[in-house]
Amino acid sequence: MMRLDKLLANKAYGSRKEVHQLLKDQRVTINGEITTKKDIHVDIESDVITVDGQVVSTKQQYYVKFHKPKGYVTAVEDANHPVVMDLLPPEYIKMGVVPVGRLDKDTEGLLLLTNDGVWGHLIINGNKHVSKVYYVEYDGELTEEGIQRIKEGIVLGDGTHCKPALIDVVSSQSLHITIEEGKYHQVKRMIGAAGGTVTYLKRLTIGHIDLTGIEEVGSVQDLTIGDIEAFK
Ligand code: URA
Repeated sequence: MMRLDKLLANKAYGSRKEVHQLLKDQRVTINGEITTKKDIHVDIESDVITVDGQVVSTKQQYYVKFHKPKGYVTAVEDANHPVVMDLLPPEYIKMGVVPVGRLDKDTEGLLLLTNDGVWGHLIINGNKHVSKVYYVEYDGELTEEGIQRIKEGIVLGDGTHCKPALIDVVSSQSLHITIEEGKYHQVKRMIGAAGGTVTYLKRLTIGHIDLTGIEEVGSVQDLTIGDIEAFK
């Protein structure tokens, strides 16, 4: 049994206060009956709970961070290449855990996975503007002017506008770049539009989550409640 307001808050329906408002507004049902009681306990095995008519999944939820190696496709299945799921403990796969967003096959670093679709959606499409930091090594030359264009919001070859990004130069051929978007091959294309060619790419952070505890390539760790809540 679990308190209804706690369950809904855990499922990313908002803070406790927001969940209480949902209840007051008569948007929540248990087994077909509207409930406005925040302290009611529900049986997550058998009760059917809905918010605005949508069933709230009460299955156990997994939230993990994974240090993706090169050479693996960010997918659950692929006919021709190994996929990140090949490296995860089988119970995650059984529970329907899927990647949140993508890293290219040749990109390493931080990948989040979950079976909580609402939470995954918050990170990819939420309005919180989640920053992602990448470490980049490149060939060619990035001029001051190119770096300035990336900082101001570079336009890619096909006319796509990128939002302004942060750049911290690490050495003559490497840098850290911070972006809030996740367009297709975005970092490679941004560096390309500024005159360089990415030779190595690694994602270091997503929001406040980093590679601490999963420094070894291929390792996995459950996220903490704090990590999960921070995106809600
Ligand atoms: N940008 C890219 O170009 N590739 C990635 O894998 C991630 C961001």
